[in-house]
Amino acid sequence: MLKTATDKYQDIRDAVRALCAEFPAEYHRKIDAQRAYPKEFVDALTQAGWLAALIPHDYGGSGLGLAEASVIMEEINRSGGNAGACHGQMYNMGTLLRHGSSAQKQHYLPKIASGEWRLQSMGVTEPSSGTDTTKIKTSAVKKGDRYVINGQKVWISRVQHSDWMILLARTTPLAEVKKKTAGMSIFMVDLRQAERSGMTVRPIANMVNHETNELFFENLEIPEENLIGQEGEGFRYILDGLNAERTLIAAECIGDGYWFIDRVTKYANERVVFGRPIGQNQGVQFPIAESYIEIEAANLMRFRACELFDAKQPCGAQANMAKYLAAKASWEAANACIQFHGGFGFAHEYDVERKFRETRLYQVAPISTNLILSYVAEHVLGLPRSF
Ligand SMILES: Cc1cc2nc3c(=O)[nH]c(=O)nc-3n(C[C@H](O)[C@H](O)[C@H](O)COP(=O)(O)OP(=O)(O)OC[C@H]3O[C@@H](n4cnc5c(N)ncnc54)[C@H](O)[C@@H]3O)c2cc1C
Repeated sequence: MLKTATDKYQDIRDAVRALCAEFPAEYHRKIDAQRAYPKEFVDALTQAGWLAALIPHDYGGSGLGLAEASVIMEEINRSGGNAGACHGQMYNMGTLLRHGSSAQKQHYLPKIASGEWRLQSMGVTEPSSGTDTTKIKTSAVKKGDRYVINGQKVWISRVQHSDWMILLARTTPLAEVKKKTAGMSIFMVDLRQAERSGMTVRPIANMVNHETNELFFENLEIPEENLIGQEGEGFRYILDGLNAERTLIAAECIGDGYWFIDRVTKYANERVVFGRPIGQNQGVQFPIAESYIEIEAANLMRFRACELFDAKQPCGAQANMAKYLAAKASWEAANACIQFHGGFGFAHEYDVERKFRETRLYQVAPISTNLILSYVAEHVLGLPRSF
């Protein structure tokens, strides 16, 4: 494995690597070919407590900071796995932790920490609104002690491997609110019960082995106690969770980036064409060196975001910039890796094409690169709002 500077998280790195080593490349390759869910891998991570890193001790988690949590995600991807199968379990509960009532936290968090319940899904995106979340049409109308949900979501991940979903819906129509970000609320949805009473799940076949779905709601009834926080404040609650999510995804991209650099440097040293290793050519060396430099820079920004987050300081700019840099760097590394493997980069048995597909996602989801640029331009640099 590529040598990188040791840091204070070496114990976590060693332990996660040891667990990941029990699930070698053949395992992930087979799961990808079968378009299956890496159940055994996710179960092992859960049982070892890694996915409960951010849940406080009081609720049965390990109470670690975002820096430690990000190292866990990084190591999963660096070992050749894909944290995308389970990262929701680590960060979705943050909404509940920050905005749930004490009774809700007591009810959900210990079972999420133990893995008895999975809260791996978050339903925000809709087909007609896209990134413009304030235009969502899914509605939640209060009737007695219940909310009745109607509408549609798209690209909602891990629904089939989750017990609960956090759902964003409009409780006040857009036309009736003073501010477009007001009037949305979040709910805990019991997914198995919902499937029996008004929610239809339609899987979306896609480029990555990523379980994601269209959801249709027709008069789905949710008990009022499943509302998190105050009615109408849901958009703000979702935004509150984004910094952790972006930083963790940045760490996954950094893990991918190191994996690609590791593979391509090894291959470029070994593969002899025209009587010398291909890595002796500067046309091969430079793209690899360039993406390595970018990964290292992204890594610094990731730890800066973690440091601020863990100190409860504002970190929106750093979390967004870390995600931007890391997703771009891992993609550049992936491109160099597949390019310099020549034809073999396309063979399943080298795993390069699988990781290439997996890392490409992160320039689009959970937030696209353009929207990060827009955030930095407008919120950090004070340029005029474009939307
Ligand atoms: C595999 C996968 C899993 C996902 N999982 C989830 C999930 O679990 N839950 C969930 O809620 N969502 C999920 N998503 C949705 C994801 O968050 C969105 O796809 C993403 O935010 C982009 O939204 P969109 O697809 O609607 O693109 P659009 O909003 O339609 O945008 C299309 C393109 O136009 C660009 N664009 C749009 N507006 C502007 C602008 N003003 N300036 C410049 N460029 C602009 C965007 O950057 C983007 O590249 C997932 C998506 C995928 C592909």
